[in-house]
Amino acid sequence: MTYLNNAFFLIMSQEMIKDSNIKLEGFNYSPYQIIQKKRDGKELTKGEIEWFINSYTSGDIPDYQMAALLMAIYLKDMSVEETKFLTDAMLYSGQVLNFNDQKVIDKHSTGGVGDKTSFILGPIAASCGVKVPMIAGRGLGHTGGTVDKIECIENFNTSLSLDQLQHNLDQTNIVLIGQTKDIAPADKKIYALRDVTATVESIPLITASIMSKKLAEGTSGIVMDIKTGSGAFMKNLKEARALAKSIRNTALRFNKNIITMLTDMNQPLGNAVGNSLEIIECIETLKGKGPKDLTHLSVSLAGGMIYLAGLSKTLETGIKMAKNSISNGKALAKFRELIISQGGSGDYIDDYTKFPVASNIMEIKAPQSGYLNQMDGIGIGLSLVDLGGGRKKSTDKIDFAVGIIVHKKLGDKVTKDHSLASLYYHDHQQEIAQAICHKYQNEYVVIKSTKPKQMTPLIMETKINWSK
Ligand code: URA
Repeated sequence: MTYLNNAFFLIMSQEMIKDSNIKLEGFNYSPYQIIQKKRDGKELTKGEIEWFINSYTSGDIPDYQMAALLMAIYLKDMSVEETKFLTDAMLYSGQVLNFNDQKVIDKHSTGGVGDKTSFILGPIAASCGVKVPMIAGRGLGHTGGTVDKIECIENFNTSLSLDQLQHNLDQTNIVLIGQTKDIAPADKKIYALRDVTATVESIPLITASIMSKKLAEGTSGIVMDIKTGSGAFMKNLKEARALAKSIRNTALRFNKNIITMLTDMNQPLGNAVGNSLEIIECIETLKGKGPKDLTHLSVSLAGGMIYLAGLSKTLETGIKMAKNSISNGKALAKFRELIISQGGSGDYIDDYTKFPVASNIMEIKAPQSGYLNQMDGIGIGLSLVDLGGGRKKSTDKIDFAVGIIVHKKLGDKVTKDHSLASLYYHDHQQEIAQAICHKYQNEYVVIKSTKPKQMTPLIMETKINWSK
């Protein structure tokens, strides 16, 4: 039997070598059998995981086989050991930097709707002396991506070389780039594939994706914003806690200090959803005129970065420093510096007409009076994707100009026929805009005659872990 199995294995391997043009040194492994093993709920070995990731990164395994493996992982999950092997394989698919400097800190979010804190907390932390080498992602599923959003600023270059990254970090304390061929290239490819194959909401895949990038950045610490709720990948606190634990354990395994904050994502963060609209809202927040929830979360996360960098004695003093950097204008000045240092024009800070914003605005009116009791974050996020503000296929080009400004949030009193939100769309999108408006009124919000009993606090749990 063993002999037969081995014979079959060899034949399959030969077939796969032909089919997928797999390099000969990988003859021990067959993509088919690895996919099959995971599909059947079995544990993969270090060698199998490493080989699959390396072969996919080099182009020897095609997208369709990686997509099948991702779906198998999504459905059958991975053990702690497998997650570790996956993270390490993705991390070592590229270079791993090491700044050896406690002041080098980054933050990452598991993603949400209207989640734009990076553009606020990055400049805040950098203006307080933290060094922030942000390697960010593009849109994923129903959530927007930091790199897509910042590219609404013409000529902002998110593909700097590692030398340029180091130079900008020395000069301005902050740099914002996308995944590169040098840093976690496996994640760059896998991330884009997960975005369009419904394989995002998986603790091992999210852990490996986030941590491969963050560990490769060579920071001494990471602040993690782990979102939970209707607009997040983790729908409840239990899942969010499990993801936080998985991320924390990975960070500590690499001697990185880490703060995890579990935060509410049952409604969009701030008011703006959509690329240009979100960057404008961030500039307003840096001017001290932002929405309360967005400001509160941004200064809290920035405070965590300042604390991990050793620039404040406590998290609370870090948060105070973050607030001051908004009121004294230093954070805004740092954002202008960041834009200029990466090729954009600082004029965007003062002149919002420079941003591409669609000229048609449709008011989404409340179908009845009462209190806003529930919002469907995913629905709102996917409406943006329908308008072209996110991707349906990996080759789609992002439309920066479309979006939604949410006027009424959870617990707010609403009056029939008054605006719940404004939709920004193009002339040719009349029909789509009507459809979104209808869904928003009938599916994305629930209006009741009483206030919601209990509002979830924006920051639900904070854990601080020092590696030594
Ligand atoms: N952010 C990432 O970088 N990866 C994920 O999988 C989810 C959020």
